[in-house]
Amino acid sequence: MSSQAPSPRIHDLLIIGGGINGAGIARDASGRGLDVALIEAGDLGGATSSASTKLIHGGLRYLEFYAFGLVRKALAEREVLLDLAPHITWPQSFVLPHAPKSRPEWMLRAGLFLYDHLARRRIVPGSERVDLRQDKAGRALAPSNTRAFRYWDGWVDDARLVIANLQDARSRGALILSRTRVLRAEYAEGLWSVSLSDGTTLSARQIVNTAGPWAEIVARTVLGRNDAPALRLVQGSHIVTKRVHLGRDAFMLQQPDGRIIFIIPYERDFSLIGTTERDIAAPEAAAITESETDYLLEAANRYLLRPLSRADVVHSFAGVRPLVLEAGKDDRETTRDYKLMAHEGVPALTVVGGKITTYRVLAEEVLKLLAKDSKPWTASEPLPGGDVPKQAGETGQEAFARWLEELVARNENYDPKLVRRLAHTIGTAAGPLLEAGLGANIGGMFEAELQYYRDKEWATTAEDVLWRRTKMGLHLSNAGKAEIMRWFGEDPGEVQPEPALTHRFATPGV
Ligand SMILES: Cc1cc2nc3c(=O)[nH]c(=O)nc-3n(C[C@H](O)[C@H](O)[C@H](O)COP(=O)(O)OP(=O)(O)OC[C@H]3O[C@@H](n4cnc5c(N)ncnc54)[C@H](O)[C@@H]3O)c2cc1C
Repeated sequence: MSSQAPSPRIHDLLIIGGGINGAGIARDASGRGLDVALIEAGDLGGATSSASTKLIHGGLRYLEFYAFGLVRKALAEREVLLDLAPHITWPQSFVLPHAPKSRPEWMLRAGLFLYDHLARRRIVPGSERVDLRQDKAGRALAPSNTRAFRYWDGWVDDARLVIANLQDARSRGALILSRTRVLRAEYAEGLWSVSLSDGTTLSARQIVNTAGPWAEIVARTVLGRNDAPALRLVQGSHIVTKRVHLGRDAFMLQQPDGRIIFIIPYERDFSLIGTTERDIAAPEAAAITESETDYLLEAANRYLLRPLSRADVVHSFAGVRPLVLEAGKDDRETTRDYKLMAHEGVPALTVVGGKITTYRVLAEEVLKLLAKDSKPWTASEPLPGGDVPKQAGETGQEAFARWLEELVARNENYDPKLVRRLAHTIGTAAGPLLEAGLGANIGGMFEAELQYYRDKEWATTAEDVLWRRTKMGLHLSNAGKAEIMRWFGEDPGEVQPEPALTHRFATPGV
């Protein structure tokens, strides 16, 4: 369902799938003057692009597999995204303890040296050695952990990054339909005729398939093409626990099996712990298993001073990495880079693989193929919400921090925590919303806020708001969630008893 009705116009570009890759292409293409339609089967960003670890990172561990090109590209992009979307991103420090019987210290130091120098840095600090007996980070860890490195990457609210891109695309004329599936696309006489699940048909000159884990199946069943690269579907799961430590550092923890897991401060009161990796046959099958939960708890407890138990787990979610299948490589070795595949004989492109971090450069590469005479523009245009006026010499992060303090001061009648929460969710749109008044309290959120997500961000269900437009699902009581469900006209009988251990992986049902 969407507020926009399908139009009879001929679109220059039709995008199948509203995850981060589709959203990024929609924004870039609309800004270059193309008439764009983006069709998403579920909620926008409802699949992989809201189930990631939420790091804007070069990927320190990919250096082990000599993926220097990918790491350099991603490291450079880290600075760009921190600057363009400062309301939903921030630099994040990681403490990497030295672990006996794991990678030797010289190897970590060499890797971090490369990581610091592979790309230009302005916002993100460099790495340093840490004595865990002296440093605050050490307080969360068992005393046997004495030496570590601290390095920096970026953090992003993945689901909100999707919405920000789509808001910009819409403001530049794109048609965005959510909860509408592309059923079939037929090409004849220079035009695609595209049938949708709502019974309508759209016309388009070109198609880009950004269906993520469904890309191969969409290429086959929707576009009728058998030449898309095979995908390797690797499930990754996260658990959310009560906050394990008060510091702002995240931890990158090496495991005896050679894998690493992250413990990341999450939503002020929680810690995000992930990920696992296991091959699955179909995206619909994604769900965290008991043994994955045990693996993550055990992996964290190998280092923590106060061990976590199942009772500390308040939430979990699973996503599916659509990796390009590479013969003879295991899941860790398989490239995280993307591949653009032009289908034979028709104007259609399938995108496979990729990372949240590199979505913007991926979109530029797609547009280089589809609109050769147009120019890249997205590297310097802030995303909606991040459009804070900068003073001379300021980075986007600095400008946002200054703007936020001014916003808090201007709204002294509101709890500063609420003002900060809204600003870190919808960015500059928080100003007018607060000024106009937030209205009634609905289960711990405010009516004006819910209206904003519904009217400006395509939210149609309580789940969209509680788990993707915001993460208030973690903070609100069941009674609060029930009120929000009622506001959306849903039956609150469906609220899960606490703790909600699994959040469903949204399936488009292809
Ligand atoms: C566990 C995990 C952790 C990760 N961590 C990170 C990280 O920390 N940093 C990072 O940079 N990257 C990370 N990634 C990678 C990143 O999340 C993905 O590369 C990215 O989200 C893929 O986006 P996408 O748009 O290609 O796919 P998706 O977000 O899955 O979007 C595809 C969309 O297509 C829709 N669709 C499918 N079929 C149809 C149809 N017929 N009609 C209409 N719509 C359709 C689906 O509903 C879906 O919403 C992680 C991935 C996983 C799984």
